Amino acid sequence: MTDRKCQCCGVSFRARTADVKRGWAKFCSKSCKAKKQEKRTGQFRNYLGSGVDRVTYLHYAREYGGIPQFDGRGEYVGFTAVGFDNTEHQDHERS
Ligand SMILES: [Zn+2]
Repeated sequence: MTDRKCQCCGVSFRARTADVKRGWAKFCSKSCKAKKQEKRTGQFRNYLGSGVDRVTYLHYAREYGGIPQFDGRGEYVGFTAVGFDNTEHQDHERS
């Protein structure tokens, strides 16, 4: 067994060494794992559909402090501030 720290909530827990070697055992519980993965895949999905490379995406993300929106061909069209749900509005805003 190996001592691990949950990457989501920071709680210490014990994991099987074999699991750690496989890159598992990063979270103390299934709910922590789900929480962390949801966050990551959400960002990743947004980036995948953006049509820009990762460097450009992160540049805009830093510059505007939110989630940059692209039209799928790499054209920057605006951004969604973190925690502000404006997606419905933006869907109807294209002209
Ligand atoms: Zn946890």
